[in-house]
Amino acid sequence: MATVLDTKNLANLIGGEWVPAEKSTAVINPATGEEIVQVPLSTKETVDQAVQAAKAAQKEWALVPAPQRAEVLYRVGYLLKENKERLSKLLTMENGKVIEEARGEVQEGIDMAFYMAGEGRRLFGQTTPAELKDKFAMSQRVPVGVVGLITPWNFPIAIATWKSFPAIVAGNAVIWKPATETPIMAYELAKIFEEAGLPKGIVNVVFGSGQEVGDAMVQHEDIRVISFTGSNETGRNIAAECGRHLKKVSLEMGGKNAVIVMEDADLDLAVEGIVWSAFGTSGQRCTACSRVIVHESVKEKLEQKLLTAMEQLTVGNGLDESIKVGPIINKSSIEKINRYIEIGKDEGAKLLAGGYVLNEGEMKDGNYFAPTLFTDAKSDMRIAQEEIFGPVVSLIPVGSFEEAIKVNNSVSYGLSSSIFTKDVNRVFKAQRDLDTGIVYINAGTTGAEIHLPFGGSKGTGNGHRDSGVQALDVYTEWKAVYVDFSGKLQRAQIDVE
Ligand code: NAD
Repeated sequence: MATVLDTKNLANLIGGEWVPAEKSTAVINPATGEEIVQVPLSTKETVDQAVQAAKAAQKEWALVPAPQRAEVLYRVGYLLKENKERLSKLLTMENGKVIEEARGEVQEGIDMAFYMAGEGRRLFGQTTPAELKDKFAMSQRVPVGVVGLITPWNFPIAIATWKSFPAIVAGNAVIWKPATETPIMAYELAKIFEEAGLPKGIVNVVFGSGQEVGDAMVQHEDIRVISFTGSNETGRNIAAECGRHLKKVSLEMGGKNAVIVMEDADLDLAVEGIVWSAFGTSGQRCTACSRVIVHESVKEKLEQKLLTAMEQLTVGNGLDESIKVGPIINKSSIEKINRYIEIGKDEGAKLLAGGYVLNEGEMKDGNYFAPTLFTDAKSDMRIAQEEIFGPVVSLIPVGSFEEAIKVNNSVSYGLSSSIFTKDVNRVFKAQRDLDTGIVYINAGTTGAEIHLPFGGSKGTGNGHRDSGVQALDVYTEWKAVYVDFSGKLQRAQIDVE
């Protein structure tokens, strides 16, 4: 199937109508530097129009039985499946990730559609004994109303499905602001919602900047939930604003994820796990491995094996099936990565590989960075504490299992961690003591499955989770219902016999 986008100018989707915006900006393919499409830079007035459309539509949608709401998601799942290859290519063009990973990301959306559609026949509440005779007690989930989704560029379709599908099946209407770097997946998913028969106004897409559109969503009194994925700094500001408005806010933010390699580990397997987690998506994943905590007795062996594996990594345009590492999203990210290379050197870490921009030949107009390995890093160095969001990994030698756990937990983030060991006692201690929301045993730090909760502790989040059945908690309120069929007034806690 051809990789075609049916427009050169994206429009907002408001109440089922595609509405062009007055201002727009270019979306650039990070592999080639070419313009792909123009994306609207909308205003706060557009947000308000979308909210009014959503409010009206949501009242009807909430009355549609949940199994019927779910029918739409099943159709969305089949449409994503039919369009998987075309969507994957467009995703690689706007985001840069290599085509194999793009297919994986679209698949995540397909999985999420079928999983959340199943929730249409569950959405379980509780029935529970009442403390009084001839009385019935139950709890049920009810939709919140209009919810706001703010999503980043690094997983432009998967994260949107983690958020929008549970919101929709639970009976809400959605205002979605995608990242301006990657609006094509939003446009394509919105068209799929339309084709699947989602009523007009249930999903509204407003493109634009965080400062204008994102902030207008956070401030809008009729958007009662904000579900945000992005950087820690932005998330903190959003949470503070939501607090002022007594608005529920779910935050999924950065990570400083580590792979621990113990002296008894299968080193070849560990190397595969590290390379995949550190350099997949060019390190631009919230779960990317950016620290390797290695037992000092195997440090040199691991370094050698990593260097050999890194020599095999091909960097280039991700549409080419032979490429393993694609471009970086934009020039300012390249500058940030470069700054961290200098910081690492100044701090005294030893640069073993990479550490420079790639701009020769076919890479000259894109944003490419060489896969980079530091060693002899110390846990308190900035390169071992701060999120770099690029293909840079630092080895931190340690002397024991206990020290490895301590170093892993010494960062302000708490998203994902991993340990390679054959010792079953250490496996169980590690899964208990690693303080992240996701723990992998004998696998890298990436590879979440959609039916499990996704998110992290400490600076990564604020206690909510994306995907999994837990995502429903973000988009529903609990209602407790008591039915007294005694025919007389029975007072709780007082008229108990
Ligand atoms: P970002 O915070 O710059 O932007 C995220 C979204 O927030 C974008 O849509 C942006 O336009 C919007 N935004 C920016 N300023 C805003 C404001 N003042 N008000 C409202 N919205 C605003 O993050 P990014 O650079 O797009 O994404 C990378 C970050 O996302 C990394 O830190 C990464 O770790 C994190 N991330 C986390 C997860 C997770 O689930 N934990 C998943 C993917 C990415």
